[in-house]
Amino acid sequence: MRAAPVPLSPVRALERQAEVVRFLGRAVVVYLAADVLATAAMLWFVYGLADGPGGRGLLVGTWVLLAINAGLLAAAIKGYRLFASMAVFFVGTVAIVLYSATVFTDANAHLLIIGLLFAAYVLLQPEEDGARWAMGLFGLAGFLYVELLIPPGSGLVPLDSELNSQVEAAIRMAMAAHIAVDVALMQVRFVQSRLILLGVARYAELRATTDELTGLFNRRPMIQRLEELSGRDDYAIALVDVDEFKTVNDVHGHECGDRMIQKVAETMRVHFRDADLVSRWGGDEFLVLLAGMRPGDLEPLLERLREAVGETPLPHEGGLLSVTVSIGAAMGREGSEPDDVIAAADGALYRAKQEGRDRVVVLGEADCDEVPQASD
Ligand code: GH3
Ligand code: MG
Repeated sequence: MRAAPVPLSPVRALERQAEVVRFLGRAVVVYLAADVLATAAMLWFVYGLADGPGGRGLLVGTWVLLAINAGLLAAAIKGYRLFASMAVFFVGTVAIVLYSATVFTDANAHLLIIGLLFAAYVLLQPEEDGARWAMGLFGLAGFLYVELLIPPGSGLVPLDSELNSQVEAAIRMAMAAHIAVDVALMQVRFVQSRLILLGVARYAELRATTDELTGLFNRRPMIQRLEELSGRDDYAIALVDVDEFKTVNDVHGHECGDRMIQKVAETMRVHFRDADLVSRWGGDEFLVLLAGMRPGDLEPLLERLREAVGETPLPHEGGLLSVTVSIGAAMGREGSEPDDVIAAADGALYRAKQEGRDRVVVLGEADCDEVPQASD
């Protein structure tokens, strides 16, 4: 199973864990259903012994066991999962010990107790530790009692009989089925826990790299990406700053200012390709990293962005508030550091503001050596 790291908040992670518990709860029902079938199969064996010594008692006892197991299955289906699984374990263990002590003393029937213990460990949750311990100790005691204190061949069924070997074969198959199911369930548990962890880690990463207001990247992933571009010349950096934004805040309020930042962010998100990294650099300023950029394409692309922002005014109090941006950009230069390119873009932005705003200034090769002093 491929792990898809879907972001999960801590609350969502707990919900996912609860889903796993519910899934394992359903698995308990399947286990109990298998137990009812196994008891029914046992009944078939026991009918073969009905005419022998103690045969009638054995038959009645097995019918009672079948009735109890069916009742516990019904209880589990109704939702009494922990009660039903514990009860079926204790009843099952007692029955296995009794059969092993009186009927099949050499068919290794008591090995089934180990299978039941595995199931209890896998299906019960860590917080059901008390139940796990109680089952573990009770099962171990039953297993050791049969293993150490019951002499082989002392039961009703002779060691070398056909019936004994049939029961032995049935127990081997039941054990193999037990192990296969338990391993599969443990795998489900493991994969689910891993997915939950991955989801939480992805969520933490997303929170740490995303700007909350706009959903764009924040500075952190941008700085990381910029470090990888040191010395290259096939990228460009554009700084996009909203014009006269302080006035929007002052006249229409901070909440309106927030919506304007979101609006510009949305226009930028749809304008650039997936390969470009768009980030909120701070306040009303955005930094765009344009990968694989040819110098001749840069200015037209940014011009289209400037026009797109201008053409999508912000609805406010029944009217429309116009928005414009100034954009400064520079190409990466061979041997230069990304910080130098950002400084150059900042200089270009300064020039755009000086020249009247709502315009794009791209710094050419010649301008780069005399970058103007950037300031607000
Ligand atoms: P200019 O055209 O020269 O850019 O002028 P300006 O008024 O836009 O000036 P500047 O870019 O320096 O303004 C940034 C303002 O953005 C200052 C700050 O109060 C405001 N600001 C920063 N972050 C937020 C925010 O998250 N929400 C809102 N509403 N305002 C913010
Ligand atoms: Mg501004």
